[in-house]
Amino acid sequence: MPDVCPYLEYRQLEAETESGDAADAQPRAYCNAAEEFVQAMRADICNGRYGLDHETDCEIYREAEGLPEGVESEGGGGD
Ligand code: SF4
Repeated sequence: MPDVCPYLEYRQLEAETESGDAADAQPRAYCNAAEEFVQAMRADICNGRYGLDHETDCEIYREAEGLPEGVESEGGGGD
């Protein structure tokens, strides 16, 4: 069973609820640590898919928990 991050929540985008399309809209992965919606690739970490783990693979989680940096799993992409 995947280890889901405790900061993960699923929310509806405000624009979708305002436009009246809420019934069709899928809830999106939202990070309570970063206070923003997360991209699909990040959501794989949040949900513990593909062997990913928020404790080792998410710098947002590590910063929120006061854990030291030092796990470099992805090569130098920008932000
Ligand atoms: S982005 Fe990181 S801290 Fe936020 S929910 Fe996903 S794994 Fe957790």
